[in-house]
Amino acid sequence: MFKILQKALTTGVVTAPYPRVPARLSESFRGKPEFDLARWKDARPAADVCPTEAITLVEGEAARRVTIDYGRCVFCGQCAEVSSDGAVRVTREFEMATRDRRDLIRTAEYALNPDGSHRALTSASTVDRARAAEASGRELREKIRSTLGRSLAIREVDAGSCNGCELEIIALNNPVHDIERFGIHFVASPRHADMLLVTGPVTRNMEMALRKTYQATPEPRVVVAVGTCGISGGIFGVNYATRGGVDQVIPVDVFIPGCPPRPEALLHGILLAVDRISSAR
Ligand code: SF4
Repeated sequence: MFKILQKALTTGVVTAPYPRVPARLSESFRGKPEFDLARWKDARPAADVCPTEAITLVEGEAARRVTIDYGRCVFCGQCAEVSSDGAVRVTREFEMATRDRRDLIRTAEYALNPDGSHRALTSASTVDRARAAEASGRELREKIRSTLGRSLAIREVDAGSCNGCELEIIALNNPVHDIERFGIHFVASPRHADMLLVTGPVTRNMEMALRKTYQATPEPRVVVAVGTCGISGGIFGVNYATRGGVDQVIPVDVFIPGCPPRPEALLHGILLAVDRISSAR
């Protein structure tokens, strides 16, 4: 016992202060790729290398329409590597969770040059933003207490993921991220849950199980789709074995991009979902 206390005193507090303080990111962390759509001279190389078709082109006679879907992006950074004009760069932004799937999509129209490159006509973003995680830990705890009584109970559902998202979700419970300090707990049964945290492209084998889990969760229930696969099917897409995202099977309230989303990104998305619970009550 003495040794445990001694160890605790010498180690000190290891819990990261996010979201009260910005997250500490490693040098090698790759976040959201940022596109300067007005400066982008040629989107074709990026669209060619993009492994998940997050960048798509529609060629017209005199114009080209480019769509970037962050819900499909796996944050590989290849689009930045092949874009020689410097209009694409990988940022360290990870707070991308949104309630509206359309917020993750950007589009641009370009006039075509004779050599096949293009110049910008218009660009649009439904909402291109990073929502700041405003609530401090204390505010979040108060919010959960006032809306849910004592705590927020989450049931995690692996609907066919590679387990990358699960590793990050598990990290939420370690001493560094310590999600329980906010009154958020993971539970074993959907009957005890307020929120379903769903990963994976939803394999056809898991489709029925996901539907039943959703039906077993009491109202007001909130569904959070985690990771690129949970949002769009990701690298798996839609095929004979996968449905292509959680919202193809059950209604989704919050989408958390990432492949996988880091623990702070998960916490940011859960924060958004807590607001959703407030309005649902
Ligand atoms: S970072 Fe995203 S958009 Fe860029 S190539 Fe990779 S998956 Fe495609």
